[in-house]
Amino acid sequence: MTTEQNVLFTIFGGTGDLAKRKLYPSLYRLYKKGFLKEHFAVIGTARREWTNDYYREIIKETISDLVISEETATEFASHFYYQSHNVNDAEHYVNLKKLAEELDDSYQINGNRLFYLAMSPNFFGTITQQLNQQGLVSTNGFNRLIIEKPFGHDYESASILNEQLREVFDENQIFRIDHYLGKEMVQNISTVRFANNMIESMWNNRYIDNIQITLSESLGVEERGGYYDKSGALRDMVQNHILQIVSLLAMEPPAKLTDIDIRNEKIKALRAVRLFNPEEVKENFVRAQYDVGTNNDSLLNKYQNELNVAEDSQTETFVAGKVLIDTFRWKGVPFYIRTGKRMAEKGTQINVVFKNVPLNLFSEDVEEELPPNVLTIFIQPTEGFSLQLNTKKAGIGLETETFDLKHIHSAETVANSPEAYEKLLFDCLNGDATNFTHWDEVASSWKFVDVIRNEWDQNKTDLTSYPSGSMGPTESDDLLAKDGFSWYWNPEIPK
Ligand code: NAP
Repeated sequence: MTTEQNVLFTIFGGTGDLAKRKLYPSLYRLYKKGFLKEHFAVIGTARREWTNDYYREIIKETISDLVISEETATEFASHFYYQSHNVNDAEHYVNLKKLAEELDDSYQINGNRLFYLAMSPNFFGTITQQLNQQGLVSTNGFNRLIIEKPFGHDYESASILNEQLREVFDENQIFRIDHYLGKEMVQNISTVRFANNMIESMWNNRYIDNIQITLSESLGVEERGGYYDKSGALRDMVQNHILQIVSLLAMEPPAKLTDIDIRNEKIKALRAVRLFNPEEVKENFVRAQYDVGTNNDSLLNKYQNELNVAEDSQTETFVAGKVLIDTFRWKGVPFYIRTGKRMAEKGTQINVVFKNVPLNLFSEDVEEELPPNVLTIFIQPTEGFSLQLNTKKAGIGLETETFDLKHIHSAETVANSPEAYEKLLFDCLNGDATNFTHWDEVASSWKFVDVIRNEWDQNKTDLTSYPSGSMGPTESDDLLAKDGFSWYWNPEIPK
């Protein structure tokens, strides 16, 4: 049964890209499904001088491919109010407060407030302090704060930001977005593990050889050069998305599927990730930058020639590394991670490579390795699973061949399943923090990443390059080869 939520959203950055592309369409989907009905209102705020009418036209544009009738669009948009506001100006919060109280009254919202900070994290501290000082935080309903990434650029800055937020909001009121946690197949990791005895009973170092996680993008930095050049792949992708996936794969089964229990297990897993010393960083991590290359016969620029990127930039656009987790379950099982821009193919997948059978009875040389069983979780753009098995080749004799058991979500299922932001907004409305990152997760992730970053910043010689349109530098292959493994997903070599 769908339950309507009474809530007042205040979206800071209401004129921005994220609000328009993700938040407004997601709110509309929740409205269409009945989770938002009469008792909700949205205040959009930013510096631009927009009127309510203009704002509502923008809202209608952002949902134009979702709505069934002009009437529904107009009715939905009528819940939206615009308030021009500079977040640095204390007086502006007085107007916001007045509007919030009026809307609370007219929509009978009962004081439930959700503040969405869809703008640069530099403003987060100021906004939350002002929300408190100017009395925008409600005293009779719930108060929840959703914030966007990046959460700091290292442990220290994240810690300062967290202290600022915690002066006003408790940890259980802060919803830190990592939109990967809203993805269907990331949410499916726990189901696959904990709902299948065949898998969970083998989910340890007795049966698993190594786990590989790849987040590859085929695009370059495009128009994000200015931001990206200061961030790099390690901060942009490893600290958040990749370590979140690692924690979901590595955590112990929670006592219950509650946000507290699940996040406790993720925190324990992240705390068990081994922190490397500088020498180990060199051995276990590779960084590289994309060079010129080709894709479908078109010539691609090198990173240093991209818009808003320094000509002598040393920023990494590719990272590969080995993550070790010091627990009984995972001792000796490397988690290889890899992410990059301008790679051969866009895709996110997890490959769980199982240990081989003790003897190869199908070869004259019993020591000859059979291809391993590999469980692949396809996260995006393909969603689904495959399990690589060895079977008998049809015909005379006992020759083996590999065979993939595959379940891929149909285009229809993918198209009809809720988008990550819709699911995350829904969870937040219900006070469910499972798919948001707890501060302790953020802290452990930054501590791991800071060691690598510091070593790279001091030692600038090991940045290598890779041709645009490839799966990264040869050093990334060497990283696995020295342990006797190779990347399972290699679009450059068709299986
Ligand atoms: P954006 O398009 O640049 O929007 C920034 C917003 O902040 C605008 O609405 C801008 O409006 C407002 N703003 C800037 N300075 C202000 C001030 N002093 N007072 C009041 N409003 C101010 O950025 P975005 O892409 O939406 O990203 C927002 C946040 O989401 C960032 O933290 C980003 O990292 C994160 N994020 C975005 C995406 C995405 O797909 N876009 C994805 C993941 C994470 P005015 O100019 O009218 O003031």
